[in-house]
Amino acid sequence: MITFLSGGTGTPKLMQGYRTLIPDKEMTVIVNTAEDMWFSGSHLSPDLDTVMYLFAGLLDTKRWWGIQGDTTITSDFLKKIGYPEPVTLGDQDRAINIARAEMLRSGMTLTEATQHLSSRLRCDATILPMCDTEVTTCIRSDGTEMHYQEYWVGHRGAVTIDAIIRRCSEIPIATEQVIQAIRDADAVVIGPSNPVTSISPILECEGVKEALMDQFVVVISPFIGDVPVSGPAAELMLAWGMAPNGQATYDLYKEFTDVFVQDIRDPKPIEGAVCLDTLMTDVEASLALAEHIQNIIDTQKDLRNS
Ligand code: GDP
Repeated sequence: MITFLSGGTGTPKLMQGYRTLIPDKEMTVIVNTAEDMWFSGSHLSPDLDTVMYLFAGLLDTKRWWGIQGDTTITSDFLKKIGYPEPVTLGDQDRAINIARAEMLRSGMTLTEATQHLSSRLRCDATILPMCDTEVTTCIRSDGTEMHYQEYWVGHRGAVTIDAIIRRCSEIPIATEQVIQAIRDADAVVIGPSNPVTSISPILECEGVKEALMDQFVVVISPFIGDVPVSGPAAELMLAWGMAPNGQATYDLYKEFTDVFVQDIRDPKPIEGAVCLDTLMTDVEASLALAEHIQNIIDTQKDLRNS
């Protein structure tokens, strides 16, 4: 069993390769929920949905979100009648968001709702939200605080970031299932996801870091030099007071990291890091990276057993 910590792009790309290496049922994914949002009476959980759609074989892997071939009839009509939504949702995607909102309103936890949806979508992997209470990443720009979705989707990241704030009404506590998934795994893989908005919210859940310290943890850098492969990770790291590079990513995780993987193209060597081609331009490249990582895990397992 491999347990992944995931956002909605970098780690799902790696898991896409992993899917041809090991059966889905041998994978557990702990997913960031700090980008979740309620609107139009439904509950958006972008990273959970990307991971679910990946394992259901429905994911639009050109965009790394949404369902392939989905239409946007409801969203388009809402715009036409003067009720634009903060995010353009596909119609089938919306159905999932409506169902999740109904389940949450009826008293189910997010973990239960996710289990229900994953099973309806026939996902064999175990998909777990990081916690069952609401956490929201917000961006403060020019004195105005906005939801991360508004920053990234609404403004396309084109505003200055004064501060990154994590809003929650109660301290997030990792669910029992999350802690168990870390403890029971052969290894934990933190894929190349955004350190500020995808992985740190998971690490901030009570119990996660302690559990990781007792595990074999492999981390893959989302940066090559000072540049992330995609998305706003550089601006977010800088606003967080960290350099936008692999070294700063490693520093953030080093208390529990056993193997840190940086890209072969990275001009800034990190002491002790393993250099691999981490650029997952297609499924073959994702599979090749997954094979390398699994070799590292298997070698460690053999050493432990010898
Ligand atoms: P988000 O939820 O959509 O922000 O997605 P993640 O946090 O899961 O992933 C975003 C990060 O993935 C970005 O910081 C990218 O640099 C990184 N990323 C995307 N594709 C690749 C890739 O092929 N290789 C590596 N090393 N990083 C990648």
